[in-house]
Amino acid sequence: MNEIRVFCPATIANISCGFDVLGLALDAVGDEMVVRKSREKGIVITKLEGQDLPMETHKNVAGVAGMALLEQTDYTGGFEIEIYKKIKAGSGIGSSAASSAGAVWAMNELLGKPFDALQLVAFAMEGERLASGVAHADNVAPALYGGFTLVRSYEPLDIVPIPAPSKLYATVIHPQIEVRTADSRKILKTNITLQDGIRQWGNVGGLVAALFTDDYALLGRSLEDHIVEPIRSILIPGFADIKSGALKAGALGSGISGSGPSIFALSKGLEIAQNVGEQMKKTYRDIGVDYDVHVSKINHEGIKLLD
Ligand code: ADP
Repeated sequence: MNEIRVFCPATIANISCGFDVLGLALDAVGDEMVVRKSREKGIVITKLEGQDLPMETHKNVAGVAGMALLEQTDYTGGFEIEIYKKIKAGSGIGSSAASSAGAVWAMNELLGKPFDALQLVAFAMEGERLASGVAHADNVAPALYGGFTLVRSYEPLDIVPIPAPSKLYATVIHPQIEVRTADSRKILKTNITLQDGIRQWGNVGGLVAALFTDDYALLGRSLEDHIVEPIRSILIPGFADIKSGALKAGALGSGISGSGPSIFALSKGLEIAQNVGEQMKKTYRDIGVDYDVHVSKINHEGIKLLD
Protein backbone atom coordinates (compact mmCIF):
# COMPACT_ATOMS: atom_id res chain seq x y z
CA MET A 1 0.00 0.00 0.00
CA ASN A 2 1.61 3.23 -1.15
CA GLU A 3 -1.28 5.69 -1.15
CA ILE A 4 -4.48 6.21 0.83
CA ARG A 5 -7.37 8.65 0.87
CA VAL A 6 -8.80 9.51 4.29
CA PHE A 7 -11.73 11.41 5.79
CA CYS A 8 -10.64 13.77 8.58
CA PRO A 9 -13.62 14.83 10.73
CA ALA A 10 -14.39 18.25 12.11
CA THR A 11 -14.46 18.28 15.92
CA ILE A 12 -16.06 20.29 18.72
CA ALA A 13 -13.65 21.07 21.53
CA ASN A 14 -14.40 22.16 25.11
CA ILE A 15 -18.11 21.17 24.98
CA SER A 16 -19.07 23.88 27.50
CA CYS A 17 -17.60 22.70 30.80
CA GLY A 18 -14.52 20.87 29.48
CA PHE A 19 -12.18 23.69 28.46
CA ASP A 20 -9.05 22.19 26.84
CA VAL A 21 -9.99 18.65 27.97
CA LEU A 22 -13.22 17.51 26.26
CA GLY A 23 -13.93 17.08 22.56
CA LEU A 24 -16.14 15.16 20.14
CA ALA A 25 -15.89 14.12 16.50
CA LEU A 26 -18.49 15.02 13.86
CA ASP A 27 -19.57 12.85 10.96
CA ALA A 28 -21.23 15.18 8.45
CA VAL A 29 -18.33 17.57 7.97
CA GLY A 30 -14.63 16.97 7.45
CA ASP A 31 -11.69 17.27 5.08
CA GLU A 32 -10.22 14.71 2.75
CA MET A 33 -6.53 13.98 2.38
CA VAL A 34 -4.52 11.79 0.03
CA VAL A 35 -1.21 10.66 1.49
CA ARG A 36 1.36 8.69 -0.48
CA LYS A 37 4.83 7.37 0.17
CA SER A 38 7.66 8.99 -1.75
CA ARG A 39 11.31 8.14 -2.15
CA GLU A 40 12.58 11.48 -0.98
CA LYS A 41 12.93 12.05 2.77
CA GLY A 42 10.61 14.65 4.32
CA ILE A 43 7.09 15.81 3.58
CA VAL A 44 5.83 17.74 0.58
CA ILE A 45 2.32 19.19 0.36
CA THR A 46 1.60 18.78 -3.33
CA LYS A 47 -1.98 20.05 -3.44
CA LEU A 48 -4.21 22.18 -1.20
CA GLU A 49 -7.74 22.94 -2.34
CA GLY A 50 -10.72 24.63 -0.70
CA GLN A 51 -8.90 27.13 1.54
CA ASP A 52 -6.13 29.65 1.14
CA LEU A 53 -3.48 28.17 3.46
CA PRO A 54 0.31 27.93 3.36
CA MET A 55 1.70 24.88 1.54
CA GLU A 56 5.25 25.04 2.93
CA THR A 57 5.84 22.01 5.15
CA HIS A 58 6.88 24.03 8.20
CA LYS A 59 3.91 26.44 7.89
CA ASN A 60 1.18 23.84 7.36
CA VAL A 61 -0.02 21.88 10.37
CA ALA A 62 -0.09 18.65 8.32
CA GLY A 63 3.60 19.12 7.51
CA VAL A 64 4.60 19.98 11.08
CA ALA A 65 2.62 17.11 12.67
CA GLY A 66 3.89 14.73 9.98
CA MET A 67 7.52 15.73 10.56
CA ALA A 68 7.08 15.08 14.30
CA LEU A 69 6.08 11.50 13.43
CA LEU A 70 8.75 11.07 10.77
CA GLU A 71 11.50 12.05 13.22
CA GLN A 72 10.53 9.08 15.41
CA THR A 73 10.80 6.44 12.67
CA ASP A 74 13.69 4.83 10.85
CA TYR A 75 11.72 4.96 7.56
CA THR A 76 14.13 6.44 5.06
CA GLY A 77 11.57 7.75 2.53
CA GLY A 78 9.03 10.54 2.80
CA PHE A 79 5.41 11.45 2.05
CA GLU A 80 3.42 13.57 -0.37
CA ILE A 81 0.19 15.04 0.97
CA GLU A 82 -2.86 16.39 -0.86
CA ILE A 83 -5.32 18.33 1.30
CA TYR A 84 -8.92 18.97 0.27
CA LYS A 85 -10.29 21.39 2.85
CA LYS A 86 -14.01 21.45 3.53
CA ILE A 87 -13.62 22.84 7.05
CA LYS A 88 -12.98 26.57 7.06
CA ALA A 89 -9.82 27.63 8.92
CA GLY A 90 -10.58 29.56 12.09
CA SER A 91 -14.17 28.30 12.25
CA GLY A 92 -13.78 26.71 15.68
CA ILE A 93 -14.57 23.18 14.51
CA GLY A 94 -11.03 21.87 14.37
CA SER A 95 -9.83 22.82 10.90
CA SER A 96 -6.18 22.63 11.87
CA ALA A 97 -6.76 19.47 13.93
CA ALA A 98 -8.31 17.64 10.97
CA SER A 99 -5.15 18.23 8.92
CA SER A 100 -2.72 17.48 11.78
CA ALA A 101 -4.49 14.31 12.86
CA GLY A 102 -5.28 13.20 9.29
CA ALA A 103 -1.63 13.46 8.23
CA VAL A 104 -0.23 11.39 11.10
CA TRP A 105 -3.05 8.82 10.99
CA ALA A 106 -2.53 8.23 7.26
CA MET A 107 1.26 8.08 7.55
CA ASN A 108 0.96 5.56 10.38
CA GLU A 109 -1.30 3.36 8.22
CA LEU A 110 1.17 3.49 5.32
CA LEU A 111 4.05 2.55 7.65
CA GLY A 112 2.20 -0.51 9.00
CA LYS A 113 0.89 1.11 12.21
CA PRO A 114 4.05 1.41 14.30
CA PHE A 115 2.38 3.98 16.61
CA ASP A 116 -0.70 3.75 18.84
CA ALA A 117 -3.46 6.37 19.02
CA LEU A 118 -1.92 8.13 22.04
CA GLN A 119 1.39 8.57 20.22
CA LEU A 120 -0.47 9.91 17.17
CA VAL A 121 -2.21 12.47 19.41
CA ALA A 122 1.20 13.68 20.64
CA PHE A 123 2.47 14.12 17.04
CA ALA A 124 -0.73 15.87 15.94
CA MET A 125 -0.47 18.26 18.90
CA GLU A 126 2.66 19.71 17.28
CA GLY A 127 0.42 20.87 14.41
CA GLU A 128 -1.91 22.49 16.95
CA ARG A 129 1.08 24.27 18.47
CA LEU A 130 1.74 25.82 15.06
CA ALA A 131 -1.90 26.83 14.54
CA SER A 132 -2.62 28.42 17.91
CA GLY A 133 0.62 28.61 19.88
CA VAL A 134 -0.64 25.97 22.32
CA ALA A 135 -0.21 22.21 21.82
CA HIS A 136 -3.76 21.35 22.88
CA ALA A 137 -5.24 17.89 22.32
CA ASP A 138 -8.97 18.47 22.66
CA ASN A 139 -9.57 18.50 18.87
CA VAL A 140 -6.92 16.04 17.67
CA ALA A 141 -7.89 13.41 20.27
CA PRO A 142 -11.53 13.01 19.15
CA ALA A 143 -10.42 13.19 15.49
CA LEU A 144 -8.11 10.21 16.11
CA TYR A 145 -10.22 8.17 18.58
CA GLY A 146 -13.74 9.10 17.42
CA GLY A 147 -16.67 9.70 19.80
CA PHE A 148 -15.97 11.90 22.81
CA THR A 149 -12.56 12.10 24.44
CA LEU A 150 -11.28 13.44 27.73
CA VAL A 151 -7.71 14.66 28.09
CA ARG A 152 -7.31 13.54 31.71
CA SER A 153 -3.76 14.86 31.83
CA TYR A 154 -1.35 16.64 29.51
CA GLU A 155 1.80 15.62 31.40
CA PRO A 156 1.93 12.72 31.06
CA LEU A 157 -0.51 12.66 28.14
CA ASP A 158 -3.52 10.55 29.14
CA ILE A 159 -6.55 10.33 26.83
CA VAL A 160 -9.80 8.67 27.92
CA PRO A 161 -12.15 7.61 25.07
CA ILE A 162 -15.81 8.08 26.05
CA PRO A 163 -18.76 6.47 24.25
CA ALA A 164 -21.60 8.61 22.89
CA PRO A 165 -25.30 7.77 23.23
CA SER A 166 -26.59 6.51 19.87
CA LYS A 167 -29.34 9.16 19.49
CA LEU A 168 -27.06 12.11 20.18
CA TYR A 169 -26.75 14.68 17.37
CA ALA A 170 -24.82 17.92 17.09
CA THR A 171 -25.89 21.13 15.37
CA VAL A 172 -23.19 23.68 14.60
CA ILE A 173 -23.63 27.17 13.20
CA HIS A 174 -20.61 29.07 11.93
CA PRO A 175 -21.17 32.83 11.68
CA GLN A 176 -18.98 34.16 8.88
CA ILE A 177 -16.83 36.38 11.05
CA GLU A 178 -13.20 35.90 11.99
CA VAL A 179 -12.10 35.21 15.55
CA ARG A 180 -8.41 34.32 15.84
CA THR A 181 -7.76 31.44 18.24
CA ALA A 182 -4.83 33.33 19.71
CA ASP A 183 -7.07 36.38 20.40
CA SER A 184 -9.85 34.36 21.97
CA ARG A 185 -7.26 32.82 24.30
CA LYS A 186 -5.70 36.15 25.20
CA ILE A 187 -8.91 37.54 26.71
CA LEU A 188 -9.32 34.66 29.17
CA LYS A 189 -8.55 35.04 32.86
CA THR A 190 -5.71 32.87 34.12
CA ASN A 191 -7.18 32.46 37.62
CA ILE A 192 -10.58 31.14 38.64
CA THR A 193 -12.34 31.16 41.99
CA LEU A 194 -12.78 27.98 43.98
CA GLN A 195 -16.54 28.44 43.62
CA ASP A 196 -16.28 28.47 39.80
CA GLY A 197 -13.95 25.47 39.91
CA ILE A 198 -16.45 23.47 41.97
CA ARG A 199 -19.26 24.18 39.49
CA GLN A 200 -17.06 23.36 36.52
CA TRP A 201 -15.70 19.99 37.70
CA GLY A 202 -19.14 19.03 38.91
CA ASN A 203 -20.39 19.55 35.36
CA VAL A 204 -17.46 17.72 33.75
CA GLY A 205 -18.11 14.71 35.98
CA GLY A 206 -21.84 14.91 35.24
CA LEU A 207 -21.27 15.11 31.49
CA VAL A 208 -18.91 12.13 31.43
CA ALA A 209 -21.29 10.06 33.58
CA ALA A 210 -24.21 11.02 31.30
CA LEU A 211 -22.32 9.85 28.21
CA PHE A 212 -21.56 6.48 29.79
CA THR A 213 -25.13 5.93 30.99
CA ASP A 214 -27.09 7.44 28.05
CA ASP A 215 -28.67 9.89 30.49
CA TYR A 216 -29.79 12.70 28.19
CA ALA A 217 -31.31 14.81 30.97
CA LEU A 218 -28.09 14.75 33.00
CA LEU A 219 -26.17 15.53 29.81
CA GLY A 220 -28.29 18.64 29.31
CA ARG A 221 -27.88 19.79 32.92
CA SER A 222 -24.11 19.35 32.66
CA LEU A 223 -23.64 21.48 29.52
CA GLU A 224 -22.78 24.60 31.52
CA ASP A 225 -19.71 26.78 31.52
CA HIS A 226 -19.35 29.60 34.05
CA ILE A 227 -15.70 30.30 33.31
CA VAL A 228 -14.91 30.67 29.61
CA GLU A 229 -18.27 31.18 27.90
CA PRO A 230 -19.22 34.46 29.65
CA ILE A 231 -15.95 36.00 28.40
CA ARG A 232 -15.57 34.46 24.95
CA SER A 233 -19.20 34.89 23.96
CA ILE A 234 -18.60 38.65 23.81
CA LEU A 235 -16.68 38.03 20.55
CA ILE A 236 -19.61 36.16 18.94
CA PRO A 237 -22.51 38.19 17.51
CA GLY A 238 -25.96 37.06 18.67
CA PHE A 239 -24.56 34.34 20.95
CA ALA A 240 -27.21 34.67 23.67
CA ASP A 241 -30.07 34.60 21.13
CA ILE A 242 -28.66 31.60 19.24
CA LYS A 243 -28.26 29.70 22.50
CA SER A 244 -31.69 30.51 23.92
CA GLY A 245 -33.30 29.75 20.52
CA ALA A 246 -31.55 26.36 20.41
CA LEU A 247 -32.78 25.48 23.89
CA LYS A 248 -36.34 26.56 23.01
CA ALA A 249 -36.18 24.35 19.89
CA GLY A 250 -35.44 21.39 22.18
CA ALA A 251 -31.64 21.16 22.39
CA LEU A 252 -30.22 19.56 25.52
CA GLY A 253 -27.59 22.29 25.73
CA SER A 254 -25.60 24.76 23.68
CA GLY A 255 -22.28 26.57 23.89
CA ILE A 256 -19.22 27.83 22.03
CA SER A 257 -17.48 25.33 19.76
CA GLY A 258 -13.75 25.39 20.49
CA SER A 259 -12.55 28.97 20.58
CA GLY A 260 -15.50 30.10 18.43
CA PRO A 261 -17.04 31.73 16.55
CA SER A 262 -19.03 28.53 15.82
CA ILE A 263 -21.79 27.71 18.29
CA PHE A 264 -22.88 24.12 18.91
CA ALA A 265 -25.95 22.45 20.36
CA LEU A 266 -26.45 18.80 21.32
CA SER A 267 -29.87 17.18 20.88
CA LYS A 268 -31.57 13.84 21.29
CA GLY A 269 -32.56 12.69 17.80
CA LEU A 270 -32.03 14.01 14.27
CA GLU A 271 -35.35 15.83 14.04
CA ILE A 272 -34.71 18.04 17.06
CA ALA A 273 -31.14 18.70 15.86
CA GLN A 274 -32.54 19.85 12.49
CA ASN A 275 -35.14 22.08 14.16
CA VAL A 276 -32.37 23.59 16.26
CA GLY A 277 -30.47 24.31 13.03
CA GLU A 278 -33.51 26.05 11.51
CA GLN A 279 -33.96 28.16 14.64
CA MET A 280 -30.26 29.13 14.64
CA LYS A 281 -30.46 30.13 10.96
CA LYS A 282 -33.53 32.27 11.61
CA THR A 283 -31.77 34.09 14.44
CA TYR A 284 -28.80 34.98 12.22
CA ARG A 285 -31.04 35.93 9.29
CA ASP A 286 -32.90 38.33 11.60
CA ILE A 287 -29.71 40.09 12.68
CA GLY A 288 -28.06 39.91 9.24
CA VAL A 289 -25.15 37.54 9.88
CA ASP A 290 -24.09 35.04 7.16
CA TYR A 291 -23.59 31.47 8.34
CA ASP A 292 -22.92 27.79 7.57
CA VAL A 293 -24.91 25.15 9.45
CA HIS A 294 -24.01 21.50 9.99
CA VAL A 295 -26.24 18.85 11.55
CA SER A 296 -24.34 15.67 12.34
CA LYS A 297 -24.47 12.47 14.30
CA ILE A 298 -21.49 11.80 16.50
CA ASN A 299 -18.67 10.11 14.58
CA HIS A 300 -17.80 6.99 16.55
CA GLU A 301 -14.73 5.93 14.56
CA GLY A 302 -12.83 9.16 13.91
CA ILE A 303 -10.54 9.40 10.89
CA LYS A 304 -11.34 6.70 8.36
CA LEU A 305 -10.18 5.26 5.06
CA LEU A 306 -12.14 6.28 1.96
CA ASP A 307 -12.71 3.84 -0.95
P1 ADP B 1 -10.03 25.97 14.08
O1 ADP B 1 -10.47 27.03 15.03
O2 ADP B 1 -11.08 25.64 13.08
O3 ADP B 1 -9.44 24.77 14.74
P2 ADP B 1 -7.55 27.12 13.99
O4 ADP B 1 -7.74 28.59 14.20
O5 ADP B 1 -7.14 26.27 15.12
O6 ADP B 1 -8.85 26.57 13.27
O7 ADP B 1 -6.45 26.88 12.88
C1 ADP B 1 -6.35 27.67 11.80
C2 ADP B 1 -4.93 28.20 11.72
O8 ADP B 1 -4.03 27.15 11.36
C3 ADP B 1 -4.82 29.25 10.64
O9 ADP B 1 -3.95 30.25 11.11
C4 ADP B 1 -4.20 28.52 9.49
O10 ADP B 1 -3.43 29.37 8.67
C5 ADP B 1 -3.31 27.49 10.17
N1 ADP B 1 -3.11 26.29 9.35
C6 ADP B 1 -1.94 25.82 8.87
N2 ADP B 1 -2.12 24.68 8.17
C7 ADP B 1 -3.44 24.42 8.19
C8 ADP B 1 -4.24 23.37 7.63
N3 ADP B 1 -3.71 22.39 6.91
N4 ADP B 1 -5.55 23.39 7.87
C9 ADP B 1 -6.09 24.39 8.60
N5 ADP B 1 -5.40 25.40 9.15
C10 ADP B 1 -4.07 25.42 8.95
